[in-house]
Amino acid sequence: MIDGAFLRPLLQPQKSQPVTKFVAVINRSITKIVKVLRLMTESVRNITIIPEFRWSDRQLTEDFATFAPHHIVNQQGIEKMLNLNLPPSYPKQPRRVLLTGAAGFLGSHLAEALVGLGQRVIGVDSLVTGSEENLSNLKGNPNFRFIRADIARGLSAEIGEEKFDRIWHLASPASPIGYVKHQVTTLKVNSLSTIDLLELAEKNKARIFVASTSECYGDPLEHPQTESYWGHVNPIGMRSMYDESKRFMEAACMAYHRERGVDTRIVRIFNTYGPRLAVDDGRVVVAFIKQALRGEPMTVQGDGSQTRSLCFVADEIRGFLLLMESPEYHLPVNIGNPEEVTMKELAMEIRDLIGSKSEIMYLPLPPDDPKQRCPNISLAKKLLGWEPAIPRKDGLALTIKYYREKLGIAE
Ligand code: UDP
Repeated sequence: MIDGAFLRPLLQPQKSQPVTKFVAVINRSITKIVKVLRLMTESVRNITIIPEFRWSDRQLTEDFATFAPHHIVNQQGIEKMLNLNLPPSYPKQPRRVLLTGAAGFLGSHLAEALVGLGQRVIGVDSLVTGSEENLSNLKGNPNFRFIRADIARGLSAEIGEEKFDRIWHLASPASPIGYVKHQVTTLKVNSLSTIDLLELAEKNKARIFVASTSECYGDPLEHPQTESYWGHVNPIGMRSMYDESKRFMEAACMAYHRERGVDTRIVRIFNTYGPRLAVDDGRVVVAFIKQALRGEPMTVQGDGSQTRSLCFVADEIRGFLLLMESPEYHLPVNIGNPEEVTMKELAMEIRDLIGSKSEIMYLPLPPDDPKQRCPNISLAKKLLGWEPAIPRKDGLALTIKYYREKLGIAE
């Protein structure tokens, strides 16, 4: 990790240099050495060597560790894929947790993070869009129990009779293809199940966190989007089952909070990417990576001038964890990366990172596709001290590496 090459020219001054210049150079070198040593001790303190794991996971974790020194490992020595870099003051109380959507992209990363923090997690998922493979790192972990259940049909007795301190509601199809394929489930899980879980939170005096979305802003007329913007949503369009049920979810939280004092947290999630997004759910980052790796045409929809702001999953999960433990704040909070990119630029960026020769192929734009999307994150910065730390280029490189291996495509 430490490459001394940059120090060499400084440590080998020319004979003809005057003494003062030489002293200045030595001083600069010492400052650099001290900085490097500080970095090293920080890393050494926070990295734990784990006895058993798959090569791919190890490689990924080493890569994550270069972004921030905190390398979280759970008590069984099974490593986690995320390097969350939470502040040392983050609460470490053992909590009894219910997590819906545990086998999904965000849910599975969150489940690992919570177990890594010493919490006891019951993860529920119907596997309608999630996959049990996402939970393989938690298999056999005594602090994690998986229940396969469709909460859209009501909370099973198994869940309803448990005691919880924290409830996370992440269950829902979340890609445009996913929620159009499962329209009624999407509507139910974000509306009826939210009510069921709010009731459960009230009964348990638990805090509940719900995963809302930037889709609440629809095709926004305000840019970037602040939490106070009410949105521009088609209530009967091809995204309405998702957009409107998430808006209902927020309304339900506010009602249970205002009328019954339930301790609620609402996050509005902007586009997030990283390892474990389902390969075929159509979301843009994985679609482009898959196409570029296979040398297939990259399907840019419309003219590709529409924008999204992409947040790497480790940053997103850190935002969730901070919001859950934040002081009293019940209104929605945007968690997303404000760095905006057009879909055409994104296709070219991914193609360059992979070194692929794929052509760009233009397809019709799906109905109600938002033209632009970018969070204003001033509130998250002020309230949680949160902002994304992982630049898109680095997050994409890690994501590409993961899918290269998953799809079995050699460099
Ligand atoms: N998109 C694209 N090609 C694809 C998939 C998506 O150009 O193969 C575009 C899509 O039209 C949208 C953006 O990428 O403008 C993000 O789409 P995604 O499905 O990831 O999520 P959304 O933000 O629309 O919910």
